[in-house]
Amino acid sequence: MNSKKKIKTTCSYCGVGCGILADVNPQAKVSVQGDPEHPVNTGMLCSKGMNLHYVVNDTSDRILYPEMRWSRAHARERVTWDEALDRAAAVFKSLIRKYGPNSVGFYISGQCLTEEYYIANKLAKGFLGTNNIDTNSRLCMSSAVVAYKKTFGEDSVPISYADIELADVFLIAGANPAWNHPILFRRLEKHKEKNPNVKVIVVDPRKTDSASFGDIHLQLIPGTDIILYNAIGRRLIETGYADESFVKNHTENFQAYRKQVMETSLKDAATLCGITVDEIKEVSELIGKAKGFISMWAMGLNQSSIGTDKNFALLNLSLVTGKVGKPGNGPFSLTGQPNAMGGREVGGMANLLAVHKDLQNPQHRQDVADFWGVDQISPNPGYTATEMFDALASGEMKAVWVICTNPMVSLPNLGKVEKAFTNAKFVIVQDISHRSDTVAYADLVLPAAGWLEKEGTMTNSERRISYLTKGINPPGEARPDVEILCDFAKRMGFRGFNFANAEEIYEEYCAMTKGTNIDISFLNYDRLKNEGSIQWPVPAYRHPGTDRLFTDKKFYTPSQKAIFNIPAQIENTSEKISAQYPFVLTTGRIRDQWHTMTKTGKVARLRTHYSQPVLEISQLDGYIYKIKDGDVVEVKSKNGIVRVRAKISNSVRNGVVFLPMHWGKQLENDLNRANNLTFTRVDPQSKEPDFKYTTVSVTKY
Ligand code: SF4
Repeated sequence: MNSKKKIKTTCSYCGVGCGILADVNPQAKVSVQGDPEHPVNTGMLCSKGMNLHYVVNDTSDRILYPEMRWSRAHARERVTWDEALDRAAAVFKSLIRKYGPNSVGFYISGQCLTEEYYIANKLAKGFLGTNNIDTNSRLCMSSAVVAYKKTFGEDSVPISYADIELADVFLIAGANPAWNHPILFRRLEKHKEKNPNVKVIVVDPRKTDSASFGDIHLQLIPGTDIILYNAIGRRLIETGYADESFVKNHTENFQAYRKQVMETSLKDAATLCGITVDEIKEVSELIGKAKGFISMWAMGLNQSSIGTDKNFALLNLSLVTGKVGKPGNGPFSLTGQPNAMGGREVGGMANLLAVHKDLQNPQHRQDVADFWGVDQISPNPGYTATEMFDALASGEMKAVWVICTNPMVSLPNLGKVEKAFTNAKFVIVQDISHRSDTVAYADLVLPAAGWLEKEGTMTNSERRISYLTKGINPPGEARPDVEILCDFAKRMGFRGFNFANAEEIYEEYCAMTKGTNIDISFLNYDRLKNEGSIQWPVPAYRHPGTDRLFTDKKFYTPSQKAIFNIPAQIENTSEKISAQYPFVLTTGRIRDQWHTMTKTGKVARLRTHYSQPVLEISQLDGYIYKIKDGDVVEVKSKNGIVRVRAKISNSVRNGVVFLPMHWGKQLENDLNRANNLTFTRVDPQSKEPDFKYTTVSVTKY
């Protein structure tokens, strides 16, 4: 790049999707600032976003060229792209011939751009003949996806960030947006500053910064969320706050809901949740009276063995009060990753097909097959994230291609994940950084282009599609992910991958959306470049995008009515605490780190907030177990061990401990990984793992 230029793009971290102005100087060094014209952040950036340029400018950790080993007895060595992709194609052909298409699979990422997601899915489902393609979004949003589909008929977030300024009551459930969706939370803070009547209720076993900001903090016992939301539902019905007209005309299954919520008294619910009856009454009154009621939630609900049922129970509060499809009203899942939603749009998970079609539906499979010009899409369900690593560990799957994610830190039960990689016959890791722990297990390493080094699109939490501009060239021989995948597909002999650039891939996907509920057939790169980000659907020429869904109260179900889904499990189905494992461990994020720290971990100023992982434990538990602040403690589950320093904290309930999930193996120490302890226990409906309830012991080491 020879001249200084300013580029409009989007932050690559969380699902808030903040606009960024990147300055690229003649030496290709980058600086960033918030885009003052962007509708999401109006110039603001959080600590992660405002330090994004350090990640781009420091290429010391980057994977610069393909590396390959001929056997596990050999060290990896530098190879050419031709040698690397020829080997990948030869191994995949050989395994598919010998063991069938389901012997191979892809594990990809909510940080992939939409075009990358689309191509990887077309390659696996359309041409390799396997649905073994899942993503780390399985660890993030899949419980919300199932709940949206069963409640509204499709995976559709009904509202926009702009609804925040129109609402007066917020219920934040199992989320800490003050740290994890900071710019969105700033909007809420500003709104409350201007309007003191606005009330914020936070439901969380931890007293987070979000909970401290709230007017009411329900510090419930982990795993009791459904009991709480059902109790609120009961109270809303009993006090006349149910919207009878909406319920009668626009919903199904209310009587079953009514029956379930009436089964537990407020007194029993309060006892089970560890809160008071008065708190349930107060919260119900606020929600019932609200002119605008928004529920926001994240991993505290989703990452649970009853995650989908928790989502149902929360969504039902919007239905019973009729507070959906109206300005300032509706449920709002907070997406963790920058493009988890874009990935779902193009069928980025093992049970999905592009344009929100279902793998289980024969007509949907045929529609997609016809569009891609292939005979059929396999009806066999693909392995979901944890199933895929189980299958690798057991030998049912032989090869895995990991793109833009670091499962050796982020998946639960890391002992099993390590076994999976060791047992696999062939492991491909396509990434940007040697800091990923997963690279160590790769037989073939493919260097990918990172943020600002390639173009493409992403969709944020409010259905807003952004175009990301290429501003600099990738270092070394790194290439955009779509180029790598298309090159591989051609070596496999597949037609349909002759794209000149990412724009042509995007156009193919857009054509596929025509006439669907996520129609963006009129939203091309030119519009995104000229007009900025736009919310789907965009179903007509010059259509401005859609800020709110279901304003006509017609939902995407066959009856066009929203459905009250009845949680099958009211009580938590995770293991029970015992004398041997008397604590509940819950894991999560800290303010300045992102996922497994391959990017944020190399920025010195982001390490000052937390320089190492610490186990938060309550003052009383510290006293009982003779643990002082700063002591090294050993945390044990039935599954593994962690040794970290203790932090005596008033933010956790007695009996609950918290450990951040970011740290991987550093300096040969793998005893700081939270996922040594967690289990491969998943929600039966969404297959999302339970990271929020592991029973552990804690002792001074
Ligand atoms: Fe990036 Fe999210 Fe921070 Fe915005 S809030 S700057 S999208 S990490």
